[in-house]
Amino acid sequence: MAKIMRKIIEIDEELCDGCGQCVTACEEGAIQIVNGKARLVSEKLCDGLGACIGECPRGALRIVEREAEAFDHHAVEEHLARLRAEAESPLACGCPGSQVREFTPEGPAPAKGEIPSALSQWPVQIRLVPPTAPFLREADLLVAADCVPVAYPELHLRLLPGKKILIGCPKFDPAEEYVARLAEVLRVAQPRSVTLAIMEVPCCRGLAVILEEARRRAGSDIPLEVKVISPRGEIVREERL
Ligand code: SF4
Ligand code: SF4
Repeated sequence: MAKIMRKIIEIDEELCDGCGQCVTACEEGAIQIVNGKARLVSEKLCDGLGACIGECPRGALRIVEREAEAFDHHAVEEHLARLRAEAESPLACGCPGSQVREFTPEGPAPAKGEIPSALSQWPVQIRLVPPTAPFLREADLLVAADCVPVAYPELHLRLLPGKKILIGCPKFDPAEEYVARLAEVLRVAQPRSVTLAIMEVPCCRGLAVILEEARRRAGSDIPLEVKVISPRGEIVREERL
């Protein structure tokens, strides 16, 4: 497409910490967080009016005049429709099994004594749940390390009822991606409470560090209730961060 001289947003990646405040400020959806940094999705989506600039706490945004594709209203409409569709079925892997769903958890344990599932949503992985998922909105949130549900079978009886859960491993997955995603969850979904369940092993503490950084980036002062689980399936420590 031919380029014209016009005003357009410029993002300083050195200053940007990926807080995502510009993403929601931009009604055109022209900015998205990619690998922990704000990025202009496409030149034709930016109207050059700078609605996002005042939202950036890091001074990472400015309007410059340069050659760029012309602003395109139709492209914006198509892009926003695509974003809405992704929010309703946001699959990083493209698998229909990860479609966002909310449902009523199982009732009381059946007669044979099986533990009922308290899960009321899908998906559950931090990387698969979009911050815009309706079930996250003003929810009581449980963020759990991947190993917790295996080590602590009582999770469905004692930690999960009434909560929405996000799970992930701070050891194997990219911390920066988790920080950006959780900051966006805190900012967009505004949860009522956050409980963090981690394993007693030192590597798992990383999830508390990630969540604290996400809280800082989101400008959230929501307290974090932390439950530390032993490999033998006991809650060995409870903290408040
Ligand atoms: S608002 Fe946050 S994500 Fe957007 S440019 Fe500024 S620091 Fe980066
Ligand atoms: S950090 Fe370690 S204990 Fe925690 S979820 Fe990952 S592998 Fe499991």
